[in-house]
Amino acid sequence: MENIFSRIVSKEEPANIVYENEYVCCFDDISPSAPVHILIVPKKYIQSLATIEAGDEKYLSEILLASKEVAKMKGIDQSGFRLISNCNHDGGQEVNYLHFHLVGGCRVGHMISLPKAAKKAMKEMGL
Ligand code: 5GP
Repeated sequence: MENIFSRIVSKEEPANIVYENEYVCCFDDISPSAPVHILIVPKKYIQSLATIEAGDEKYLSEILLASKEVAKMKGIDQSGFRLISNCNHDGGQEVNYLHFHLVGGCRVGHMISLPKAAKKAMKEMGL
């Protein structure tokens, strides 16, 4: 699957790569939502969390290890950060290539705040 993140991984498209190894590539989000906002992607095309398979374990564990390394490099491993992966339509995924947002550098809060639409949907479901 050819898209923007596969082209960044293959270096056909520029990005500010902050860390990479054989399994992962980590680069600045083009439109940051926090003082530190890095995208962590596997160097194997995986569409989303909904399509991971047995055999992808090495990529998935390397993503977590890279998040720790990048947080350390950015000096936010002690202050804290959040790792988010949006999946498919309801999860708000815009780029069809598995990626994790590492956000921090300020207080990002206790929980992800849900939009009013989610609260409305819950009410309609009687929850
Ligand atoms: P999603 O909504 O799929 O979880 O997140 C996609 C993210 O990719 C967004 O935060 C968006 O700013 C970022 N993004 C989209 N296009 C590019 C790009 O060309 N370069 C970089 N570095 N980030 C991108």
